[in-house]
Amino acid sequence: MTRPAHVIFDPQAVRANLRQVRTQAPGRKVMAIVKADGYGHGVVRMAQALGDVEAFGVASVEEAVRLRDADISQPVVLLEGPFEAEELPDISVHRLESVVHNHEQVRMFAAHAEPLTLWVKVDTGMHRLGFAPEEVPAVLAQLHRPGRILRLMTHFASAHLPGDESVQAQMAGFRDVLGNQALESCCANSSAVLAWPDSHCDWVRPGLMLYGVSPLAGVSAKDLGLRPAMTVVSALISLREVAAGGAVGYGRGFVCPENMRVGIVAFGYADGYPRHAATGTPVLVNGVRTQVIGEASMDMMAVDLRPVPDARIGDPVVLWGEGLPVEEIASAAQTIPYELLCRMRMRAQFIQRTA
Ligand SMILES: *Cc1c(COP(=O)(O)O)cnc(C)c1O
Repeated sequence: MTRPAHVIFDPQAVRANLRQVRTQAPGRKVMAIVKADGYGHGVVRMAQALGDVEAFGVASVEEAVRLRDADISQPVVLLEGPFEAEELPDISVHRLESVVHNHEQVRMFAAHAEPLTLWVKVDTGMHRLGFAPEEVPAVLAQLHRPGRILRLMTHFASAHLPGDESVQAQMAGFRDVLGNQALESCCANSSAVLAWPDSHCDWVRPGLMLYGVSPLAGVSAKDLGLRPAMTVVSALISLREVAAGGAVGYGRGFVCPENMRVGIVAFGYADGYPRHAATGTPVLVNGVRTQVIGEASMDMMAVDLRPVPDARIGDPVVLWGEGLPVEEIASAAQTIPYELLCRMRMRAQFIQRTA
């Protein structure tokens, strides 16, 4: 028997989530964000599941090439642009599109004759990447070439916070830059797709919601019609009866308040489980909701079997996914779902659900 730690990937859920994007942003083009190896789901696996989106967004030429090697033919956009001029030939050979967010990149593309499609990033207030609004006209002029397509984009700092005033301010700033230029534009991440319809522009740029996770504070994925693309599973490998007062795990992390049954699961922080998700974090054993006890160790963790008296060795354990939103685990671990999903990158073995 091999170690039972797996990630089950559900391409049907991904397609259903994409339908939600299209319902929320009717008629807009979709740039599906698959950076960080498809938020830990596998960049090629995600692209194949998504099928007919209008473009993909990635963080590096390496990720883009993986899509091209898998015969993905849609436009692929480098969200951070090239890091050095040596990448420009690859951008041409693989027919990639690029964000342009700093003056170094403007110089690279100004010296490069290829037509290309370039997305000029405007910093409307997040202060991470992009040009100040007043710099944009000069940047567009420097990048202009016959046959070259230029577009404008910006990114919101707080679209996940309902009613946040900075989103309106960023949108107003972006509209000023866009003016009446005939350039296509793109602003909305998942939370803006769902909560800020005024920001949809020509293109939307969802990531998290495609993976079936809620981007909005206080709203569940289920209420948004989203289904988890990833379910992280393992199994019980040991059962013990621990007497009242007995402690479980490193540092005596959990002291049993009564005689109780404890299960040990083959999954730990080396598999990407957050060590800060300690006692009280929900987990499903045989589909029954119970709790983690103590802290995860490197490749094992303990669970409370009081609600699952008939549990046996080999029984399935869901760490997050179907029936247990990753949002709950993230909040117990004082992090965000994005981080937990990305931890599955190159970790547990993936199984693709087919039916
Ligand atoms: C990651 C990213 C997105 C997607 O954000 P979600 O919150 O996952 O929808 C969109 N645009 C840019 C520039 C990004 O870096």
